[in-house]
Amino acid sequence: MSNRKVVVIGGGMVGLCSAWYLKQQGHQVTIIDKGTIGEGCSSGNAGMLVPSHFIPMAAPGIIAKGLKWMFQPESPFNVKPTLDMQSLFWLLSFFRNANQTNVDRCKQTILDLNLYSHELYGSLSNDSGLEFEMGKHGLFMLYKTEKAEKEEVELAQQAQELGLDVAILNGQQVQDLEPDVRVDVRGGVHFRCDSHIDPARFMQAIVKGLQQSDDTVLLSNTEAVGFEQDANGRLTDVLVRSGDGETTSIAGDEFVLAAGAFSREVAKLLGDNLPVVSGKGYSLTLDNPGKLNRIPAIMTEAKVTITPMGEKLRFCGTMELLAEGEKINQGKLNGLRKAVGQYYPDFAEALMSADPVWSGMRPCSPDGMPFIGRFKKHENLIAATGHAMMGVSLGPATGKMVSDIVAGTPDTRFNMALMSPDR
Ligand SMILES: Cc1cc2nc3c(=O)[nH]c(=O)nc-3n(C[C@H](O)[C@H](O)[C@H](O)COP(=O)(O)OP(=O)(O)OC[C@H]3O[C@@H](n4cnc5c(N)ncnc54)[C@H](O)[C@@H]3O)c2cc1C
Repeated sequence: MSNRKVVVIGGGMVGLCSAWYLKQQGHQVTIIDKGTIGEGCSSGNAGMLVPSHFIPMAAPGIIAKGLKWMFQPESPFNVKPTLDMQSLFWLLSFFRNANQTNVDRCKQTILDLNLYSHELYGSLSNDSGLEFEMGKHGLFMLYKTEKAEKEEVELAQQAQELGLDVAILNGQQVQDLEPDVRVDVRGGVHFRCDSHIDPARFMQAIVKGLQQSDDTVLLSNTEAVGFEQDANGRLTDVLVRSGDGETTSIAGDEFVLAAGAFSREVAKLLGDNLPVVSGKGYSLTLDNPGKLNRIPAIMTEAKVTITPMGEKLRFCGTMELLAEGEKINQGKLNGLRKAVGQYYPDFAEALMSADPVWSGMRPCSPDGMPFIGRFKKHENLIAATGHAMMGVSLGPATGKMVSDIVAGTPDTRFNMALMSPDR
């Protein structure tokens, strides 16, 4: 099915990757974004590409940990109180999914998607003409306590059984791999299968690539505010409001819903309930850190990340479920700032005063699987959202799968039922 008019709603990692692969298949693509394309949740994050993360967010132990953390102001997790019925329903559904059955159901598909995406990143970096760097030193899961070590080593052994390239290291072995900075840990797991990128640079490269095509239109400050559909529920137009308040419509043959944490709001315009809520997180970037670590890492007890991005160094953390907007939770931010010094003492001082703080809203589904696929009620609307902590990692795989769905040849290697927006 060639040369369709496709409208992509949302210009983050997922929308841009979808547009990229749709363009490769010869479609006319229009991307709309209510803010600036490439500046949503996908810009200031940790940039980790993570085949190592095959356990869905809804997993055993998360509820107990979450409840404990909710009462600690500087902990990495929180749930914003709400009376909104859909959010309460989401929390209930998450609670129900946080079990081993859900993990067993999802983990192979999550791993396969991540491996596929990693392979696509490799091709994009080698053969597409897109200018971006892919850091290939892997990822550390670092720990300071015996308890965390036990958990991480168990996970590492599962990863090895699944065929991933993983090494379990003691503190000295971790330090030996990081000769330029001090690392104060009991040990760590080195997922040599992982990589990282600077997500903003990657998206700039995609935007530049898309702009070279006459058939691609990129519209910032253009918000989807409604749809027009025929008697069968087939969408004909998306109604958009531009920055100056004017409302117009954009016609399309196919529509891709990639509005990140706002996807539920967009689906609501059609009377649909797509259970996506926001999981807000923060990052701090040091432009001139003086020293750089080589290997991105997750400080597991603190749930804080460190990623070298070119000359810069980025730290990320915090998951505040249902939190939206620009307001910064100072307690959570203090927790992030303090944690870094406990693992990487060289950056302790710089981090305490690092500014500005970036925040982004992860689009979270209640079972930890993304939504990728056609809506039953609107057969020409394709969901591409709900990637939570893995939207960068899974961006290319999602984009390619969206383009395959539009082409009428969905990728049969994956269990699409697990990702259906109607599941
Ligand atoms: C602190 C932090 C660290 C992270 N680290 C990683 C990591 O290391 N690796 C990883 O894989 N993931 C990571 N993530 C998660 C990742 O950032 C997200 O999963 C990803 O950015 C989601 O991409 P998206 O395209 O779905 O959403 P977004 O990037 O948010 O894009 C959605 C876009 O839709 C637009 N939009 C919304 N509503 C409308 C509307 N009505 N009309 C038009 N446009 C609209 C928005 O303006 C936005 O630009 C991290 C997230 C955070 C917060």
